[in-house]
Amino acid sequence: MAASAVLAATVAACGDAGAGGGDGRISVVATTSQVADVVRNVGGPDVAVKRLLPVSADPHDYEPRPSDARAIATADLVVRSGGDIDSWLEDLTDDAAGERPALDLLDAVHRRGDDPHWWQDPRNVERAAEALATALAEVDPDGAVGYRSRAKVYVAKLRRLDAGIARCIARVPAGKRKLVTTHDALGYYARRYGLDVIGAVIPSLSSQAQPSAGETDRLVRQVRDEGVEAIFPESALNPKLERAVAREAGVEVTRALWADALGPEGSDGATYLEAMASNTETIVSGLTGGRETCRPPVG
Ligand SMILES: [Zn+2]
Repeated sequence: MAASAVLAATVAACGDAGAGGGDGRISVVATTSQVADVVRNVGGPDVAVKRLLPVSADPHDYEPRPSDARAIATADLVVRSGGDIDSWLEDLTDDAAGERPALDLLDAVHRRGDDPHWWQDPRNVERAAEALATALAEVDPDGAVGYRSRAKVYVAKLRRLDAGIARCIARVPAGKRKLVTTHDALGYYARRYGLDVIGAVIPSLSSQAQPSAGETDRLVRQVRDEGVEAIFPESALNPKLERAVAREAGVEVTRALWADALGPEGSDGATYLEAMASNTETIVSGLTGGRETCRPPVG
């Protein structure tokens, strides 16, 4: 017993050598705002979270800074969203001095093909929270009980959110459950809640693709032919093209969805739970021409 206690203490001391702050918290680097929010929920007071992406920035289009490499070099754990969302992290981790423990959440969730927007299905966020509790417990065994119990509390909130979204979408007539977004970011949401993705203004899983004139014309025709009610822009992207398509097709542009980035503090998309509730409210209202209002309860 004594020997293993000493060993544990030594391992803990080594782990602490990498930590920033020196306040007893472990330091976790998260790439996106969604990932940072899940880390905060599971890590609680035991974890200092450093998010690499600035608030409201488009993750597909991020240029890492030297300070990002420094944060990674001293991190106890690096958590990424995965795939095209934060592939820029790969250059950073190659450069960082020494290998850091890392978790790629795309490997922990149920993925649909190449689509990296897994958090749009709250059941995937459950899987991410559980994988994160395990990874945090590995780098900080003393905190394991706390990580597991906070993950459990968060999972209960995710399940309430999931049920609430389904109840809200049920108020949209079946023939109106048609989504057109900026880029193809809501596939997981659509699959989970029984909506059809008719198309995207940028017809790609990345926000960085450029639509051709032919693609835009085709989308305008689809919006008209399918009786699409509204086009949903995204908070991190300029809605210029959405407005043009909507004008051509004679439909509304709604308020922006929190698609690939959460909102700033104080906004109604500041946390993952709030962002999903706000998006659902926008979608229900947009697809019913404002006739239905429904916001899933959060917390
Ligand atoms: Zn995206």
